[in-house]
Amino acid sequence: MAFIRSKIDLHSHSNASDGSFSPTALVNRAIDKGLTHLALTDHDCILGIKEAKQAALGKIELIPGTELSCTWRNEQIHVVALFIDLNSKVLLNYLEGQKQKRIERAQNISLKLEKQGIHNAYEECVKRAGSGASITRGNYAKLLVELGRAQDNEDAFNTYLKKGKSCYVKTDWPDMSVCVDTILKTGGIPVLAHPSRYSLTNTKIRALMEDFKQYGGLAIEVSGCQMKTTEIDYLASLCEKYDFMASLGSDFHHEGSYRELGFLPKLPINLKKVWDDPRAKPYNFITEG
Ligand code: AMP
Ligand code: MN
Ligand code: MN
Ligand code: MN
Repeated sequence: MAFIRSKIDLHSHSNASDGSFSPTALVNRAIDKGLTHLALTDHDCILGIKEAKQAALGKIELIPGTELSCTWRNEQIHVVALFIDLNSKVLLNYLEGQKQKRIERAQNISLKLEKQGIHNAYEECVKRAGSGASITRGNYAKLLVELGRAQDNEDAFNTYLKKGKSCYVKTDWPDMSVCVDTILKTGGIPVLAHPSRYSLTNTKIRALMEDFKQYGGLAIEVSGCQMKTTEIDYLASLCEKYDFMASLGSDFHHEGSYRELGFLPKLPINLKKVWDDPRAKPYNFITEG
């Protein structure tokens, strides 16, 4: 499918987690692509937002966000928190817990990689990422490619990092109910990220939506990079069925992949948009995504 441009992109990563660009470089790229609104949503981390806001000043609206890892029925699920209050004690406290889990997990992955003859992988990832960054499996995938141990990210996951492979480490993320509740308490909007990327059956996806709704979830991502019309139509139907608001985001990490800032199908016009919520008001949305 050809890339379709949206001026609004509510899911992206910088080198404060597993993205390759600094927050400033990411924001400049979004400006170059003609975006009016960009949410920076690093994994379990808000460290890049201050810099991103500075770079965005007067040129683009920068929406503070984070992508939180949580557990639902033994699955690792991502919930994007949008329009968050960066000074919220509840949020900062929660992120501290996530940080400790991430450090422990990343070090355990590194120990497993050591056994495969890949030395000091944790330290090498930390060196390449921004200061204080969340280290994710995405960081390890990039390192493995750089070291010539994998052909590309996908290969790194299929050979080492995904569930069932030699360097996979299970993590005890907080339950999805706790995650959603925390986001609500910090004044943000909980958005279920990329619902079709969890390899769940349609029955399980519906169960996921039902629980997300029951816990207080308010929106789901309906449009992402290069998504087929049938996939968007399906997610749009679930969005309406469970009365969620719709969000969209490229989940951009780095150059050279099929994902690009703002290169994503617009949301179906009949859906309620996440930016129509009063919490989005300070960010001056005037255009259609
Ligand atoms: P983590 O939260 O540490 O489990 O890492 C998740 C991140 O790894 C995602 O946000 C993606 O950036 C990346 N990732 C997960 N699965 C894949 C995959 N199959 N291929 C490439 N990247 C992936
Ligand atoms: Mn990632
Ligand atoms: Mn994700
Ligand atoms: Mn993401």
